[in-house]
This record gives sequence, structure tokens and C-alpha cells, in this order.
Amino acid sequence: MPDGARPKERVTSLVRPHLLAMPGYEPVEPVHVMARRLGLSESQIVKLDGNENPYGPSPLVREALARFSSYHIYPDPAQWEVRQAVAEYAGVDAEQVVLGSGSDEILNIAAHLFLDPGDVVVNAPPTFGMYDFIGRTMNARLVEAPRLEDFELDMPALEAALAGGAKLLFLASPNNPTGNPLRRRDLERLLDYRAVVVVDEAYAEFAGETAADMVAEHENLIVVRTFSKWAGLAGLRVGYGIFPPALVPVLWSTKIPYNLSVAAEQAVLASLSDRERLLANVRLIREERERMAALLRELGWLHPYPSAGNFLLCRVREIPARAVRDGLRRRGVLVRYFDAPGLQDCLRISVGKPEHTDRLIEALREVKAEYRG
Ligand code: PMP
Repeated sequence: MPDGARPKERVTSLVRPHLLAMPGYEPVEPVHVMARRLGLSESQIVKLDGNENPYGPSPLVREALARFSSYHIYPDPAQWEVRQAVAEYAGVDAEQVVLGSGSDEILNIAAHLFLDPGDVVVNAPPTFGMYDFIGRTMNARLVEAPRLEDFELDMPALEAALAGGAKLLFLASPNNPTGNPLRRRDLERLLDYRAVVVVDEAYAEFAGETAADMVAEHENLIVVRTFSKWAGLAGLRVGYGIFPPALVPVLWSTKIPYNLSVAAEQAVLASLSDRERLLANVRLIREERERMAALLRELGWLHPYPSAGNFLLCRVREIPARAVRDGLRRRGVLVRYFDAPGLQDCLRISVGKPEHTDRLIEALREVKAEYRG
């Protein structure tokens, strides 16, 4: 045995202890596996559980990816061309934009910049699970300021956390899964504290409002966006952050150089060149959201909350929400159930095409009849 060597322990004893304590993910069955199990073809599955875009990407994306010939060359680590294009789209300065592998990576980059172990990160549940996840991976201290009954922010609780020395606050606008946007005056108040506020605008195109213009005036505001939802690129993984200029040098000196693939770059450029078509799809989804809400309400036992996103959160009466999720799944219709405080009698249903809504409503009627019978 070499000098200094010790009898072998399990390699897990070398892992950072807080990571061993992380709760695992609930495994998700891939759609093709589920289709086979249900005896359906993949196209018969109505996937309304991931807030994805039912219209998919612009056809120009497929063409650009087929035409592109430099897949063997590393991407531009400075992301220059795509940053210009995204900045023009978002109405900000190209210097402020950083792209990454989905907005998930941008959220992680933001946390990485600020959180030392033990630092306080604030979360306003119910909300997107990634904020809690990222906080845990950083070994930060998580402080929760649960939302009020109507899912608006508990401003006194948030302000108390920020005044108490929190470093980072994550807020989604519109919030996933509740659908409500962040009020501008609330954001303005929260920016008055010496803490960084990350506003996650994954669904901004569906809401038609943004805080991107506020980044120029507020050094402690980061706005995070994605191409996953409005542009239908969830599988290609493209997100971006709009950062205050003061953070730009440290961002570039710490970012992994090739975090955006050339395929993602091509897809961004093609999507932005075809934005009219994509934004027309966004309008279709918004219209369908309202039609779906009306149809759900008509059923009488589902109560959708108003939503500015591409999904509806519904309270389920008369039948346990989990049973409805399972009954729908047996019929090939996938929706999201959260086993979380305040959401146990809720389902989140993504907005699909009109024919998806029709299948959903039919399946809900069957589930209800089955439960009664
Ligand atoms: N933020 C919110 C609020 C989301 O709901 C999602 C996706 N479900 C994301 C960020 C992550 O999106 P992506 O990593 O695909 O950009």
C-alpha cells in the first residue's frame, strides 16, 4: 500500500455529503415505452404534461440543420452571432445576453455566480421545481415564502427574507404551474433589497409581458428566457439570460466555453428568422387555452385558474386528482399531477392543438363515468 494510503472505503464517502441527501427524480416513462404498454401508437398519445409546443419548431429549423455542414467544428464560445440575433429579438444589448443549454442551465449559471454553501436562496412555492433543486445542489439554505391562496406573492414574507440577508430570489413569470404573472410593482419593490432577483420568463411570449426592459436600470435583476416553449425547441435545449452589464465580465470568465451546440445555434437563427410564424402559433395556443378553459369549466368538476402561460392549473373536485391523472394516462392522455402542498387536488394541463383538447375532454368524461360507475 503506498504511503498515506488508507483501507478502502466506498467511493460514496468522497461525494459531497449534501448531494447524497438530494431527493431523487420521479422516473418518467418515455412516450414510446408507454405507447407500447398501452397498445397504442406513439401518435395516439396526447402529451399535455410537459408544457411543450404542439406545433413544434419552424420548418426552417429542420432545413437549417440539414444544410449545416460544420458539425465537426466547435461552436463560437463567445456566441457572437446568436447573441446579436437574440438581443435584437428581446430588445436588449447583445453584451447582456448569454445563451445556454435550456433556461435550466442559465438558472444554474445564475445560482453558481452567487451562492456559497449556506447562503440563503428564496423560493415562492408552488413553483417550478428547478429553483429548489438548484439551491440544494449548491448546498444553499432554502427559505420558502409560500404563495397566498390565489397564488399571488406573499410580499411581507418575501421582503422579510430579503431583508434578513437572502442572496438570491427565484420568481417565475408567468409562474409554473399556477399561470399567474408577476406584478411589476411587486418586482420593483423586491429589487430594492440587496439581493439578486432572477425572473424566469420561460412563458413570456404567451403572457405578452416581460421585465427585460428593467434589467438596464436594475443591477440586481436577471431575466431568463427560453426557446423551448414559444419556438418549440425543448428537445434542442436553448435558453438565454439577460444579465446586468456589471455581471458580464465574471459571467464570461466562468462560463463553460461550448455550452451551446452548433445545432442549437442554427436552430435559434432559423427560429428568429421565422418568428412571425412561431408567434402566430403562440396566438393559436393562447386562443386554445381559453377554449380549453371554457370546456373544462363546463364539465363542472374541474376549475381552471386564469393562466398567462401555455398550460392551465385546475382544481379537481369529486374525484382525487391523482386518480384522474391515472385514468387519463390509461387512455393515452398525459397530464401533470403534483404531490406537493397546496396542489394535491390539482392537475396541470398543457395546451395542445384543438384536437388534443377534444381528446382530453372525451377522456375526462370517460374517467368521470368510470369513477361513478
Ligand atoms: N422555467 C420554467 C418556469 C419552466 O416551466 C421550465 C420548463 N418546464 C423551464 C424554466 C426550463 O425550460 P428549458 O430548460 O427547456 O428552457
